[in-house]
Amino acid sequence: MVLAQLGGSISRALQQMSNATIIDEKVLNECLNEISRALLQSDVQFKMVRDMQVNIKKIVNLDDLAAGHNKRKIIQQAIFNELCKMLDPGKPSYTLKKGKTSVVMFVGLQGSGKTTTCTKYAYYHQKKGWKPALVCADTFRAGAFDQLKQNATKAKIPFYGSYMESDPVKIAEEGVERFKKENCDLIIVDTSGRHKQEAALFEEMRQVSEATKPDLVIFVMDSSIGQAAFDQAQAFKQSVAVGAVIVTKMDGHAKGGGALSAVAATKSPVIFIGTGEHMDEFEVFDVKPFVSRLLGMGDWSGFMDKIHEVVPMDQQPELLQKLSEGNFTLRIMYEQFQNILKMGPIGQVFSMIPGFSQELMPKGREKESQARIKRFMTMMDSMTNEELDSSNPKLMNESRIMRIARGSGRPVREVMEMLEEYKRLAKIWSKMKGLKIPKKGEMSALSRNMNA
Ligand code: GDP
Repeated sequence: MVLAQLGGSISRALQQMSNATIIDEKVLNECLNEISRALLQSDVQFKMVRDMQVNIKKIVNLDDLAAGHNKRKIIQQAIFNELCKMLDPGKPSYTLKKGKTSVVMFVGLQGSGKTTTCTKYAYYHQKKGWKPALVCADTFRAGAFDQLKQNATKAKIPFYGSYMESDPVKIAEEGVERFKKENCDLIIVDTSGRHKQEAALFEEMRQVSEATKPDLVIFVMDSSIGQAAFDQAQAFKQSVAVGAVIVTKMDGHAKGGGALSAVAATKSPVIFIGTGEHMDEFEVFDVKPFVSRLLGMGDWSGFMDKIHEVVPMDQQPELLQKLSEGNFTLRIMYEQFQNILKMGPIGQVFSMIPGFSQELMPKGREKESQARIKRFMTMMDSMTNEELDSSNPKLMNESRIMRIARGSGRPVREVMEMLEEYKRLAKIWSKMKGLKIPKKGEMSALSRNMNA
């Protein structure tokens, strides 16, 4: 899970506040201090964190809030707004149109994940019906063309490059020309990264840009540099017209929050984040759903998008129907456990629902979590159809619990633990009750409604 640690700390702080009987100055301070600590650990700039604290305290004046006010909700909303502000660049990214030829140039330092990200970006769009193509204009790094070729072949995306030609501008021009003739609507040009910001890199970027006239320049950066992202993003922006940013390696680094907020401070919109080495470990970045997820409120837009992206078409109506009924039976839990264990694409879908994968299968503890889920499933194998299909918690009385424990050879304590887990997940699932079953393309509107 992206920024699992940061998200965990923030939602724990909110939870602790919610558990307090009375919300007074002390409880609010503790909550804000906890969130601030988590943000600082994630390398968010000190001034931003301090401003956030000050702003929230200005908005949430506990003395002025009448007893009837829901203080928790007001505080949570204020925290949500402040975090969104921290990550909002204040301007949208340039959008490309499917069916109309666009050239997108990728720039960034060597090792930032640029070549990998080019393919992820192409693959993402290909799945959405675009006709992408990849051009390798990195003649500086030996092996760059081979890497792009390998990735492109795997994803079945046409590519262009050369082992002989050493002029990146010439290759870029030829590649773009060829794919324009082939009616590709998304021509992606991967440029050289070199190893540090040096004059030669910027000069080369400018020349490739002049020759290919990109509709969009995407700057790729590694999140592990944290708040130093500010200077890096600025330097690239000054050299070439960066229209959007992709932040990579959000899966492995504690400094991701710092990197995202620093990029936003340069007024560059982050459009995707890289969350792993694989082709589909790539997520659309949208400030509000991202913060929702961070606060444990769920990322509905990502969730619905992911359903359409990864769940086979014939299974989508059934899954959405179950979600919209909000009726979580033990059988549904069993099926979702199967999905999560397969760690297949549907597992990814459920990782978007707070409380599902993150807590059931936290990163780094996959083995023991898998063993726990398997134990739960063994116990559920000893349940009757009536028990599996009921959503009435009262049905599970003592004698049924004893029978399940005997039948599965597990202690009663574990059966109780499994039923507790069921209750927890049922609570989360119930939030999806009444979900309007959307058609393709209706996602954003729906997610906006749900996040509102
Ligand atoms: P380039 O030099 O900028 O073109 O970087 P590469 O695309 O060759 O990537 C450098 C390394 O980072 C490779 O080992 C990639 O697999 C890895 N990488 C790229 N993106 C991600 C990501 O989002 N998460 C993780 N964990 N690794 C990534």
